[in-house]
Amino acid sequence: MKIICIGRNYADHAKELNNDLPEFPLFFLKPDTALLTKSKEFYLPDFTKDLHYECEVVVRINRVGKNIQEKFASNYYNEIGLGIDFTARDIQEECKQQGLPWERAKAFDFSSPLGDFFIKKEELNLSNISFRLFKNEKQVQFGETKNMIFSIDRIISYVSQFITLKVGDLIYTGTPAGVGPVKIGDQLIGYIEDQKIIELIIK
Ligand code: MG
Repeated sequence: MKIICIGRNYADHAKELNNDLPEFPLFFLKPDTALLTKSKEFYLPDFTKDLHYECEVVVRINRVGKNIQEKFASNYYNEIGLGIDFTARDIQEECKQQGLPWERAKAFDFSSPLGDFFIKKEELNLSNISFRLFKNEKQVQFGETKNMIFSIDRIISYVSQFITLKVGDLIYTGTPAGVGPVKIGDQLIGYIEDQKIIELIIK
C-alpha cells in the first residue's frame, strides 16, 4: 500500500505557513513504513527540533482505479478515518528553501499514525465532516471538510490520473489551521464529530 498526502488543502492552514493557494491538488507520497497503527505511543525522532502534528481526515481506498472520473470517485472508498501527518517543520523549511523534495521531513518511519477506527461513509455527511485535535486536553485544530479547497472526490479523480489507486491505499486529505509542535510527554487526541478516533502519547 501507499500513503498519498494532500498539502495546502485548507486556506487557513496555507495562510498560516505563508503558502499560496494551489490551483490543483498538491500531493506527495509516503511509503508503507511511514504508517503507525494500533499504537498509543509515538517516539519523537531525534533528527528534528520542530516536529509538528497535522491532523487529517483519511480515506481508505477499496477498489483499484485509474483515471477515475470525479462523479464515480465515491465508489472507490467506503470508510473515513483520522490520522496525523507528522512533519519535521525545520527540515521541510530547509527543503522548501532549497527546492528539494520533502521526503526527509514527511516520509520517515511512523510519521503517519492512523486511528484505530474508521466510520462508514454512509454515517457521515461527506461534504461537511467536522474533526478536531486536542493537545494536552486543549483543542488545537478544528476542521470541516466543506472548507477543503479540493474535495475527497476531486482528490481521488486528480491523483488517479497519475497514479493507480489500489485497495488499502490511504489518502491523508490535508490539515486545517492550528498545526504546532509536540514534545515528549504531550498527549494528542483526535475526533471525527464526537467519536474519539486516535489517541497518542509522544515518547
Ligand atoms: Mg499534511
